[in-house]
Amino acid sequence: MGNVCTMTTSELAAIERLINVHNHGHVHLEDSMGSDLHIVNNARVSFDQESAEFTPKERGLLNFLMRERHGSPWESVIFRFDVKAPIFVIREWQRHRISSFNEQSARYSVIPDEYYVPEAELVRGQFGKPGSYEFRPIEDPAVVESTLRLLDETQQASFAAYREMLEMGVAKELARTVLPVGMFSRMKWTVNLRGLFNFLSLRNHEHAQREIRDYAIAVEELAKTVCPVAFEVFEENGRVCP
Ligand SMILES: Cc1cc2nc3c(=O)[nH]c(=O)nc-3n(C[C@H](O)[C@H](O)[C@H](O)COP(=O)(O)OP(=O)(O)OC[C@H]3O[C@@H](n4cnc5c(N)ncnc54)[C@H](O)[C@@H]3O)c2cc1C
Repeated sequence: MGNVCTMTTSELAAIERLINVHNHGHVHLEDSMGSDLHIVNNARVSFDQESAEFTPKERGLLNFLMRERHGSPWESVIFRFDVKAPIFVIREWQRHRISSFNEQSARYSVIPDEYYVPEAELVRGQFGKPGSYEFRPIEDPAVVESTLRLLDETQQASFAAYREMLEMGVAKELARTVLPVGMFSRMKWTVNLRGLFNFLSLRNHEHAQREIRDYAIAVEELAKTVCPVAFEVFEENGRVCP
């Protein structure tokens, strides 16, 4: 990206739709199709009707569709995100089958030396039992420091071994097998609003792992700009996927 003063309008717009997450990640809303009015009109076709503008009546209809879980009209809004995230986050993300993914290949491209190390306050302990775990910050600064050091040193060592194998002429597809699940990968994620609500209900939720939740929060902030009323009624109806 160049200097802000010399950027074209589309370059500036792209930045507005990009949120940096963690030490190397991001969520970028590259493209979208549809709006609050599209959802309304997909529903209105049942009665062979169409709305030309979005009024309180249309808001009422969106609320009805959400409350009664009429699912398919929400599928008329589509988003395409560019995401850069650690592999362990991407692995959880790709469980969401009702969406499409294209991911960077470690067989065909060299993986940059980038890996996840959390902020100190995110070094946590796990308490309780399966089904009701609680994750609380570790208070002991020595444990926090050792954790951050171990995360950094071991991942650095993995990348050093990876680069050494590449330099010796080993295929990328084999050398990459030493890389850690903390390494960053990039993917394009295409999802409709219904699939997105399902993703957000599970991943922008206190039970989700903190790291994927950080990305889900960014996704939600960006998606909201496309169909703000849809997100209002999602919230008002308890964030249940229609
Ligand atoms: C806190 C948390 C902990 C988790 N822990 C684990 C774990 O320990 N192990 C593990 O394996 N997974 C785990 N998961 C993943 C979870 O089981 C789901 O695979 C993931 O959240 C995707 O949800 P989904 O199936 O609703 O999404 P999508 O795959 O996007 O599906 C959306 C919806 O489409 C419908 N659908 C999709 N596919 C089918 C199908 N084959 N049959 C019928 N209906 C379908 C369902 O209504 C579904 O809700 C966890 C998820 C969360 C949020």
